[in-house]
Amino acid sequence: AGELMKGKRGLVMGVANKNSIAWGIAQQLAAQGAEIAFSYQDEALERRVRPLVESLPCEPFMVQADVTNDESMDACFKALEDKWGTIDFLVHAIAFAGKDELVGSFTENTTREGWRRAMDISAFSFVDAGKRASHLMPNGGSMVTLTYLGSERVVPSYNVMGVAKAALEASTRYMARDLGPKDIRVNALSAGPMRTLAMAGISGGKALMRTGREWSMMKQDTKMEGVAGAALYLLSDLGFSCTGETLHVDAGFHAVAVPSMDDDD
Ligand code: NAD
Repeated sequence: AGELMKGKRGLVMGVANKNSIAWGIAQQLAAQGAEIAFSYQDEALERRVRPLVESLPCEPFMVQADVTNDESMDACFKALEDKWGTIDFLVHAIAFAGKDELVGSFTENTTREGWRRAMDISAFSFVDAGKRASHLMPNGGSMVTLTYLGSERVVPSYNVMGVAKAALEASTRYMARDLGPKDIRVNALSAGPMRTLAMAGISGGKALMRTGREWSMMKQDTKMEGVAGAALYLLSDLGFSCTGETLHVDAGFHAVAVPSMDDDD
């Protein structure tokens, strides 16, 4: 425990269960004194998320927000404004693409509707939430979204989600420029593969995890504590001057071109 987030309030979007990256981040923020509002997608998820939220040291504050629905987003940010007036941080850990699109040929399997939905939920939602959050940040603030290497390089089955993550990372830079003069920092955290609900939707997810272990510089899985620690850095005052960045936390996987070489070859 510490006080890096003492006096800071913010919204964490994307907790679905105890394995969610958003939950890993929220736990570290709470341990550093943050006050946190949690948004959940629908009633079914609320029942799963509430016990988690109630286990934190801060006062439980939950609001519904389906990012595809403008009225739902209006209501969520109205609730934040009514309760706190201003906020200091936003965590966006939301993505979705259909199962039929997260397999096989990107070229063959990407439909207009699938493309639209992946872009809407996984990229535009950060622009929209970021805009709304910035209106509640008169004293500056910090926003973080979660992304993955499939935006920069080709990963089997990641397909349309890789394209959506590329849009998300580019959006992060444009948002960072717009909001920089207001002392609001906007960054993306590129995490290595971790066992979550979203991961289970990707065909070959297990193989992705194994490749991460075998090929990463550190020869190990990406640890939730590392991803959450990086989020804490970006969201706290430790991150002063860091904006428009995509920070990789993946045991070094992103920088490896050739995993290993046999000297005799
Ligand atoms: P998760 O399934 O726990 O979280 C995904 C969240 O998105 C869920 O809480 C879900 O409710 C929410 N969501 C989906 N559609 C929504 C909608 N219409 N409205 C509101 N919320 C909606 O999985 P996760 O792995 O923790 O994913 C969080 C983020 O991290 C995602 O952006 C994901 O792409 C990213 N990420 C994950 C990994 C990994 O290996 N798990 C690696 C890098 C990045």
